[in-house]
Amino acid sequence: MDFAFSKYIVLPFTPKRKYMKNLDDLIRKIIAFRDERDWKQFHNPKDLAISLVLEANEVMEHFQWKNKEEIDQYVVENKEAIGEELADVIYWTLLMSHDLKIDVLEALEKKIKKNEEKYPIEKAKGKHTKYNKL
Ligand SMILES: [Mg+2]
Repeated sequence: MDFAFSKYIVLPFTPKRKYMKNLDDLIRKIIAFRDERDWKQFHNPKDLAISLVLEANEVMEHFQWKNKEEIDQYVVENKEAIGEELADVIYWTLLMSHDLKIDVLEALEKKIKKNEEKYPIEKAKGKHTKYNKL
C-alpha cells in the first residue's frame, strides 16, 4: 500500500481527544521537566538507552507468567498502569531523540517505508517469518 493513502484507513482504536497533541509541545514539556531538576548532567546516550530498555521491560513485566485468559482480564483491569509504562517508553524515546538531534517522526516514517520493502505484502501476508527467510 502506498504510504500516502494510509491516512484514509479507519483505525480500530482512536483516542478520545479534541485535538492531536503536538509532539513538539510534548518534547518541550519533557525537556522542561528535566531541566527544572538539573538532570541533564546524568543523561548521556548510554544511560538514556538503559532507561528506555528498563521501561520497555516494565511493560513486559505486566504480562509475565500470565496465560491468554489472565492477560485479557489483566489488560481490562490494569489499562492505566500499562499506559504509564508505555508513556515511560515514549518519554525516554523522545528525550533521547531530542538529545541526539534525531527527528524521530521522520525516522519512524523511513522505518515504515523500509519495512514495507522488507516485507512485501505478496510475500509476508499472514506470515510471521523474518524478512530474510521469506
Ligand atoms: Mg516505568
